Amino acid sequence: MTDQREQIPFDVLFVGGGPANLSGAIQLMTLANEKGMELEVALIEKGAEIGSHAVSGAILNPRALEELMPDYEDQGFPVEATVRGDAFVFLTKDKTFHMPFIPRYIHNDGFHVISLSRFTRWLAEKAEAMGVNIFPGFSGDEVLYDEKGSTVIGVRTGDKGLDVDGSRKPTFEAGIDLMAKVTVFGEGARGSLVGDLEKQLDLASSSMSQAYETGIKEVIHLPENRFFEKKAFNCIHALGFPLDFDLPGGGFIYDMGQQRVAIGYLVGLSYENPHLDICDPFIQFKQHPFVADIIKGGKVVEQGVRTVSTGGYFSMPQLVFNGGLLAGGCAAIHNVPALKGIHTAMKSGMLAAETIVQALEKHRFDKETLAVYQDLIAASWLYKELYEGRNFYQALAKPPVLKALHLGAQYVTRGKGLRDHMTITDDRLTMKAQKHFLAEKAVSVDKDVFDNVLIVDKLTGVFLSKTMHREDQPAHLMIHDPEICADQCQKEYGNPCTRFCPGNVYEAVPDEQHPGRIRIKLNPSNCFHCKTCDIKDPYDNITWACPEGGGGPGYTVV
Ligand SMILES: Cc1cc2nc3c(=O)[nH]c(=O)nc-3n(C[C@H](O)[C@H](O)[C@H](O)COP(=O)(O)OP(=O)(O)OC[C@H]3O[C@@H](n4cnc5c(N)ncnc54)[C@H](O)[C@@H]3O)c2cc1C
Repeated sequence: MTDQREQIPFDVLFVGGGPANLSGAIQLMTLANEKGMELEVALIEKGAEIGSHAVSGAILNPRALEELMPDYEDQGFPVEATVRGDAFVFLTKDKTFHMPFIPRYIHNDGFHVISLSRFTRWLAEKAEAMGVNIFPGFSGDEVLYDEKGSTVIGVRTGDKGLDVDGSRKPTFEAGIDLMAKVTVFGEGARGSLVGDLEKQLDLASSSMSQAYETGIKEVIHLPENRFFEKKAFNCIHALGFPLDFDLPGGGFIYDMGQQRVAIGYLVGLSYENPHLDICDPFIQFKQHPFVADIIKGGKVVEQGVRTVSTGGYFSMPQLVFNGGLLAGGCAAIHNVPALKGIHTAMKSGMLAAETIVQALEKHRFDKETLAVYQDLIAASWLYKELYEGRNFYQALAKPPVLKALHLGAQYVTRGKGLRDHMTITDDRLTMKAQKHFLAEKAVSVDKDVFDNVLIVDKLTGVFLSKTMHREDQPAHLMIHDPEICADQCQKEYGNPCTRFCPGNVYEAVPDEQHPGRIRIKLNPSNCFHCKTCDIKDPYDNITWACPEGGGGPGYTVV
């Protein structure tokens, strides 16, 4: 589009309403107030409301929150439960081994069990009360650069009211150009605008490949919560069954109080077998005798899915550029051994805010001025957490004995291990052709296990995530070359998109135009916005872009 758009100028623009940017916005207003600065600040979020795309019934390490809002408990912080103890179990097909030793990273005693959806809504209320202009239902569609293409000057929001063929409906509203002196990108894992920035400004060429896990999570309402009542712990992390031991991933169960548990399973996207259905390990986890006993008689009340960036320190791109910064999960800012990214995202947003205040005082927004951000990170606890986990995910992807040796050595050397700066293969390149797996079965579940109450199938999961998109809009998932799907991919991998998508967005159907061939039918309305397809397609043939703002999941608890 070459239309002249309405332009709205701001001092600072935050793209994404997750913990990174909301904490950044609050910290920015706090510091600006202290210095008597008057700022125009905006935050856009693609979800219909703040929190509607926030997945993870999560454990919050309150470290960053204590700094952001020391009296947070008096300010109505929405906590579901407090962790009173941890259990760490190793599962085989039908046995459970309680590990006698719980690594220090996952000591969660005293931490808070939260609904990330509620938590982000609460942060947004605080930010709004301090004067931040919050615009839910607006997706950042395009990064705006200066004429030289080297400085970010803002973001264009997505058009609304386009018909499925891209033409304008009577309800059409053109996207707006939100112009800013500084833009903070906090899009979470696999940010679509961050992908553009990385290419345009060469932010990631000297970093290790990003790595991801896809996590499926549910809140289950139980008739009674007898299991945790009798235990000294209310937080469980599980390794082993049903995943192969050299594939990163695992499960968790957190007691959320009020007869609810948060249960989830993460699968490393470095998996090799194209037959793997991303939802099957989660279902098998729920059916394991140890887990089945905890959730017996329960009903799934909400499901959510999202990828999380797990590559850690070495996969972080450059965090600053002319006119902007990256914060949180979109920059792989995640404590990988601790399985936690909320407090690290929050801290990075807060340090971004400190950087911006200094830049505003100097009236300079070039990358040299914004580089203070990297110094602030280096001087903070955030750096220590990220640096200690620098080789962790790489070790997780090793075969069992090597994995144990690497992880043990990293544990005692605080991250250095047997070999420092270990590398990792891009998730897109790890899948092997289906011929290698003909004799070997992928994790799979029988379809008769679904009762759609406690064990739910994909479409019921979509329903329980309250995912909705306007049906007659252009597809936000682009298959670049459908011929690849029908021919190469079908033969070599058996169209893995039909299995790695948890929302059944991709369906292989007979191609009426070419008898004997298949075509991929898209159901974009089912999309959880997890972005697994953008990462794992072996031909890099799928691009995920933001749909019309306001579409997507409608989480309230997850
Ligand atoms: C299953 C699962 C369990 C987890 N459990 C825990 C846990 O127990 N503890 C923990 O600390 N961490 C946990 N995490 C990780 C944690 O959720 C993330 O690290 C954290 O949410 C990252 O915060 P963020 O603000 O960077 O990004 P997000 O939380 O992903 O927020 C980004 C926001 O930006 C919006 N957005 C993205 N692109 C655009 C755009 N172009 N325009 C407008 N809006 C946009 C998104 O809709 C979203 O609301 C878990 C993750 C998963 C998937």
